[in-house]
Amino acid sequence: VSVRAVELGDGAVLRATVCVVGAGPAGLSLAGSLSGQGVDVLVLEAAEPGVPTDPLESVRSVGLPYAVADKRGRGLGGGSLTWNIRTPVGEPHLRLRELDEQDLAPRPGLREVGWPLAAAELEGAYRDAWALFGMPGFARGGAGRDPDVELDLAAAGGGAAVERRVFGLGPAETFTERALRDHPRVRVVTGAVVTDVRTDGAPGAVTALRCATSAGGRLTVDAEVYVLAGGGIENARLLLASRSRHPEGLGNAHDHVGRYFMEHPHYDSGLVRPADHRVEEDPALWDVHARHGMAVQRKYALTAATAEREGLLSTAFYLVPRRVRNAVLLTRDGAVDLPRTTALRLRRTALEHRQTPPPGAATALEAARSLPAATRWAAAQLRAARAARRGRWRTTAPRAMTLRAMAEQVPDPSSRVRLGRDLDAFGVPVAELDWRLSDVDLRSMARSGELVLPGVRAVFGGRADSLLDLDREPQPVVVGGSHQMGTTRMSASPRDGVVDPDGLVHGTANLYVAGSSVFPTGGSANPTLTIVALALRLGAHLGARLAAPVVVAPGAASTAGTP
Ligand SMILES: Cc1cc2nc3c(=O)[nH]c(=O)nc-3n(C[C@H](O)[C@H](O)[C@H](O)COP(=O)(O)OP(=O)(O)OC[C@H]3O[C@@H](n4cnc5c(N)ncnc54)[C@H](O)[C@@H]3O)c2cc1C
Repeated sequence: VSVRAVELGDGAVLRATVCVVGAGPAGLSLAGSLSGQGVDVLVLEAAEPGVPTDPLESVRSVGLPYAVADKRGRGLGGGSLTWNIRTPVGEPHLRLRELDEQDLAPRPGLREVGWPLAAAELEGAYRDAWALFGMPGFARGGAGRDPDVELDLAAAGGGAAVERRVFGLGPAETFTERALRDHPRVRVVTGAVVTDVRTDGAPGAVTALRCATSAGGRLTVDAEVYVLAGGGIENARLLLASRSRHPEGLGNAHDHVGRYFMEHPHYDSGLVRPADHRVEEDPALWDVHARHGMAVQRKYALTAATAEREGLLSTAFYLVPRRVRNAVLLTRDGAVDLPRTTALRLRRTALEHRQTPPPGAATALEAARSLPAATRWAAAQLRAARAARRGRWRTTAPRAMTLRAMAEQVPDPSSRVRLGRDLDAFGVPVAELDWRLSDVDLRSMARSGELVLPGVRAVFGGRADSLLDLDREPQPVVVGGSHQMGTTRMSASPRDGVVDPDGLVHGTANLYVAGSSVFPTGGSANPTLTIVALALRLGAHLGARLAAPVVVAPGAASTAGTP
């Protein structure tokens, strides 16, 4: 099924009906769909078995810290090679969830942009995507799905409606080389790094792809249709770097390529200290567990109506056992002492990252004074964690949990991928990633946390306190969720984005983009289910396009047709 580019010989020309750049979930689901319709597909994958991927890591983070190499996977399977969640029904798995209607629609006054597709237009594609993961019963409304449920919080007060949201977990093996055996029309070439999308012919027509190999060789690809599926950073980089006809980059007439980079900021929103042991006794409340033979996890969120009323972005909250080293300091009456807890954490992170000088003498003094209390906290948590591991949790106080959040961020043109000055090992400009959060994002994080806490308290009992301290830390510690979105966004009009609702790059005749770079907004669902749904939708579109009868003008060459 797959060959190495170095084995093809320097200067080889490869021909195919459709050429897909990137063998991640997007590229492989698209290739499978096309092969199933009788279309020949060539998939080019930059990484090569047994060859280090360091030369491919050509991104410099210049905005919020972003450890790119840890946040994507490369090779046959792309990011799926890194999925590592253990579930009672097997491992490794990844989290899957559809975007909600509110995620797709514009939110006037909050974020003006939405998808040029209605939820109903994605329904069939989502059903096919679930089926690809072997979870047909999980499709919206399908039997076997553990539904989202609004919680009855009449007693909890707070005025916000909170719901339990269900995430499914699917198997990573969906995208292994083995999965390709069912698709004889798919050829994969590994170690083929696409460096240039050429548009030397008629305006708007891609004429060839130029590729480099790890041995310094060159390949050319000649196809009828080309699809970029290289991930949320590389799709934009390749368009920007393809300047044979357009100095501003391909598809970039309106300066959108690379802009609106979005992640799902993950951060500690709160601390949950249950009054009893229900966390240990009922993992179905928060942890990955089996239901109807499938792995699922329940998270918590404000209902769409509350988010709408409050003007808030989508945020999914979930519980994780609090790490022993992340000590929390308490006031005399048992509340979280936020200023001292933040000071302690800042001091600890400064020491861990060998920052010199550490942040502020006053902070250092406060942290030193807090050490005895922090040590007592850590010892108690350690005891509780050990007891829980041995199934003897009743012998200690319940352990504390962190309320983590995974939030949507507003698409912001200044949060972006652009080309740097340096060239990578293959002569392509490196990417500079400038990830930013806006004030709207921060306000939404703070208010959503405040509103969800009474609901979380009602579910888990005991206390639930905020850990977000935007007064002391204007930028909370956020990390990306390995979800790179938005840099080639989908729009109905070329003025507003890079690709049309099918994924065709505006202004081109035969260049498409697949993957989360086309997401105009990101919601708070992990992206891969939507990536696969869109890829399968694109597969159906291309299948129909290639099967359509071609009207050939006298003397002109045919440009379409099934093999
Ligand atoms: C640790 C980790 C955990 C994750 N967990 C989840 C989860 O639970 N749920 C979820 O939904 N998502 C998860 N993700 C994100 C998920 O992996 C990505 O959304 C998904 O892999 C994106 O698929 P893709 O095919 O668009 O891109 P990728 O998977 O990034 O694949 C792109 C492929 O294209 C190749 N490529 C790039 N540029 C070129 C080029 N110029 N020439 C040739 N080939 C090229 C790359 O080498 C790569 O193999 C996780 C990611 C990580 C890193």
